[in-house]
Amino acid sequence: MPDVILTINAGSSSLKFALHPVAAPLTPVLRGKVTGLKRAPEFSISVPKPAPAPVPVLDPSCTHEDAARILLDWLAEHAQQHQVVAVGHRVVHGGRDFTGPAKITPDVVAQLAALTTLAPLHQPHNLASVRLIADQFPNLPQVACFDTSFHTTQTPLAKLFAIPQELTETGLVRYGFHGLSYEFIASTLPEHLGDKANGRVIVAHLGNGASLCAMENGESRATTMGFTALDGLVMGRRSGSIDPGVILHLVQQRGMSVPEIEKLLYQQSGLLGVSGISNAMQDLQASDDPRAKLAMDLFCYRAAAEIAALIPAIGGLDVLIFTAGIGENSAQTRAGICDRLGWLGITLDASRNGAGDTRINADDARCDVLVIPTNEDAVIAQHTVALT
Ligand code: ADP
Repeated sequence: MPDVILTINAGSSSLKFALHPVAAPLTPVLRGKVTGLKRAPEFSISVPKPAPAPVPVLDPSCTHEDAARILLDWLAEHAQQHQVVAVGHRVVHGGRDFTGPAKITPDVVAQLAALTTLAPLHQPHNLASVRLIADQFPNLPQVACFDTSFHTTQTPLAKLFAIPQELTETGLVRYGFHGLSYEFIASTLPEHLGDKANGRVIVAHLGNGASLCAMENGESRATTMGFTALDGLVMGRRSGSIDPGVILHLVQQRGMSVPEIEKLLYQQSGLLGVSGISNAMQDLQASDDPRAKLAMDLFCYRAAAEIAALIPAIGGLDVLIFTAGIGENSAQTRAGICDRLGWLGITLDASRNGAGDTRINADDARCDVLVIPTNEDAVIAQHTVALT
């Protein structure tokens, strides 16, 4: 029976999972997700296809913890040919103390629970699966892999907000997120870029959540998400950077409550808010409504502007990399961003971009532009193998 690592990635409304062989952690033997938690939950398997067994039908009231329990039962019944020897979790926030993956102990769980106020929409869901598995399988090793760890190498200035030091000292700094995705991309740079892998690289992780990371020597120097995953780029439903005065106005003049503002900025803004149609780039591309075009234009304009804004942290730009759902699949978005950055030496080859080649820059362009699929699960699996 081949040994496998179970990876669990609990998002705000989803739970993604995979089984990675210990002997070859890059390629999962099973991958799936539960989406639509709190609305219309759905369990699906993407690897292998077709699914090895019928998938459970979920009750609309299904919570993250229920979903994890149902997943464990389903795996016990239908994936018996694999022996789960450890579980690796994506944990959104590692605060200032966790600069790398950590083997989970009761002390670590307590430390992570104390960080819940820094990531209230994610951290409790991450810990719910950890606790459930610790209860059901007390001897199964578990490892936490943090979205924040990769960014501990940011420059001191890139981490700071211009607020009084006493607040900074309480942990109000720019942590950055999507670190497991950036770590995966950084690990592939030597194979794609040779010597340039250590050069000045910006990675654009454009999915439902979207951010940028400026790297040097394959390490993060600055990133667009900050204290929370709300900062930076326009996202599917999140506003990205916004004048803090807008929030004061909404409180003082419109009498909005904190939960209402949280919902506005996390759920009702971004591509969905601007278009009024959908949070998914694919839907907007298929629409001829001018509001869809406006939302896509704003997404591309702001991404280009934020790419430019990261350059002082690395002193120039040699390589731009696109990844995640939109970055990997939307040639139109890649063109919309790159067309605004010609002055940086970025020129696309339209046919390579349209064909989805790995290298999509024109031959005479000063800056390389690549499309590299991300694989956060593989990073979690590799760390879990290494620590258990
Ligand atoms: P997350 O993991 O943050 O939930 P993904 O990385 O899966 O998100 O990205 C989801 C986004 O990618 C959605 O906006 C979706 O519409 C977009 N997307 C996926 N496939 C395509 C495609 N072929 N063309 C355009 N956009 C796409």
